[in-house]
Amino acid sequence: MNLQLYHFDLPLRHVFTIARESISVQPTLIVELEEQGVRGYGEATTNPYYGATIENMTNALQGVREELQRHEIGDPAELWQALHPALKDHPFAQCALDQAAHDLWGKRRGQPVYRLWGLTTERLPLTNYTIGIDTIDVMVAKMREFPGWPVYKVKLGTEHDLEIVRQLRRHTDAVFRVDANCGWTADETLRNAEVLKTLNVEFIEQPLAADRWDDMRRVYRESALPVIADESCIVEADVERCAGHFHGINIKLPKCGGLTPARRMIQRARELQMRVMVGCMTESTVGISAIAQLLPLLDYVDMDGALLLAEDIATGVRIDQGRCIYPQEPGHGIQLTRRPQ
Ligand code: MG
Repeated sequence: MNLQLYHFDLPLRHVFTIARESISVQPTLIVELEEQGVRGYGEATTNPYYGATIENMTNALQGVREELQRHEIGDPAELWQALHPALKDHPFAQCALDQAAHDLWGKRRGQPVYRLWGLTTERLPLTNYTIGIDTIDVMVAKMREFPGWPVYKVKLGTEHDLEIVRQLRRHTDAVFRVDANCGWTADETLRNAEVLKTLNVEFIEQPLAADRWDDMRRVYRESALPVIADESCIVEADVERCAGHFHGINIKLPKCGGLTPARRMIQRARELQMRVMVGCMTESTVGISAIAQLLPLLDYVDMDGALLLAEDIATGVRIDQGRCIYPQEPGHGIQLTRRPQ
């Protein structure tokens, strides 16, 4: 297989603010794996919290270029295992490569990847549309730009979180889920959960800082709403630790290293009776189409990343008011529509 790397700066529709940062452009690395003229694509966006940059992802992948040239596409899980020693400190890079391997694998076999895994798409969770932090008026306006969605995910971690949700609730009957991105204390979480439950919020994502395990255990036992781990659940080993501290986990493909470890995390979470969500990290349709392959295995999904962009770079899976529409093409069905400058 031949490796190509492309760097894009994805302009966002709005400045996107969460509890710890604001961005208006999302840099992303696209991995292309080519075999006999067939091309598979994968993606990892940069992330300061997790230390992923275009430069360190690129360097890590350049280091496995020759090894890739010796491989033909087969089971992507085996390729993941073979490359893991070289890429274990670079999960974002390994994720982008693992996605590209899956897309290529499906394209070479003429089947969507979910079907090669033995899954069907009869029952799928609906994705939320995410509303980043802003003034309340702007948050309401952002929601009204995407009307009629069944679920909205509201980013919180401000001085007036409950007021934000109250005001949004005046404009829709949709389900809400909230994400505090580590912005609350345990007492705040328990107080907020009582009120948010009355506002038809279904769960709280990562209320506390990632390492507050004792506080999290208390919140898990006493909260009026389920709590879902995100920053506390990064790699496979974290799933075990989240049991008894969270009601579920939100898996992000770049954090854990791709589809291959994500499937193992889903299985382990099920064994531990936890709910499972997969989230996105402001990816284009390249990364979103990879997430879509996992949908039949999930309770919840947050795969609106490409809709937060002012301009996309690929075709593949589309999202229509929370519903995932799969492309006709095999693999993840990705075609790049833009080449980097
Ligand atoms: Mg989150």
